[in-house]
Amino acid sequence: METLRKILEQAETNGVAIGHFNISDLVTLKAVFEAARDLNVPVIVGASEGERQFMGVRQVSALVKSLREEYDFPIFLNADHTHSLPSAIEAAKAGYDWIVFDVSTLPFEENIRQTKAAVEALKGLRPDILVEGEIGDIGSGSEIHDAAPDLKKGLTNPAEAKQFVEETRVDTLAPAVGNMHGMLKSMVAGDTRKRLDIKLVRAIKAEARIFMTLHGASGTDDDDLRGAIEAGITVVHINTEVRLAWRRGLDSALVKQPDEIVPYKILPHAVDSVKRVVAARLALFSGGRRARPASH
Ligand SMILES: [Zn+2]
Repeated sequence: METLRKILEQAETNGVAIGHFNISDLVTLKAVFEAARDLNVPVIVGASEGERQFMGVRQVSALVKSLREEYDFPIFLNADHTHSLPSAIEAAKAGYDWIVFDVSTLPFEENIRQTKAAVEALKGLRPDILVEGEIGDIGSGSEIHDAAPDLKKGLTNPAEAKQFVEETRVDTLAPAVGNMHGMLKSMVAGDTRKRLDIKLVRAIKAEARIFMTLHGASGTDDDDLRGAIEAGITVVHINTEVRLAWRRGLDSALVKQPDEIVPYKILPHAVDSVKRVVAARLALFSGGRRARPASH
């Protein structure tokens, strides 16, 4: 089995991105795993602090590990948006492959200080673990929002990205380039899409020279995603689209079978609904340069 670092290196070489999908239950995990297996592409599942509190920090890890081993398949686990060192250490000890250490709401210098300390502590515990740091503002909460926040003020500055990466020694960086967590109601309705600053992605990549993760990518324009991958994004996070598909799949199953009470007869509809979304995103991310129309 290739290491996660190796998988990221290969993705960068090939000009493609790896999909990262958050899970809250077995339905979402099954959907992500089955979609990735169908397409035969590596995949990362993420569990934020709230998601792992619900499923159990060690239980999520055991589930993902059991799939990786039984099917000899490159599925990896990320402790998404971990806001404290004890919580990061708990995930590292439970066998997570990657930790997003997120203290991005703190002032820049304090973010550097705490992220650097977290990298040292986590690498001391597990030298193979990947640690991601975050700078800039991409909002919080992969939910449906009424109004758009002003993203312009929180965009990542390339020079700061370089300084942050050099001082903290993180393995990967989560920048703010027009992305944001959650989706607006108008995006759910299909009327609007998130747009990314591709030039900024390229500038940050040139300065920081590090693997970059695009958080909050749900609802983003497809061409902007392709452009961002070409400009230096190696991992793309999708959560809200997964949650929306989960909810819609469950709703329709309950409406169609009002008298059904057997969970394993109801929940496959939710699996299928999530799987369609994940498969479409994985196809786009792994298409990379090849998927770009000839006119570009
Ligand atoms: Zn995120």
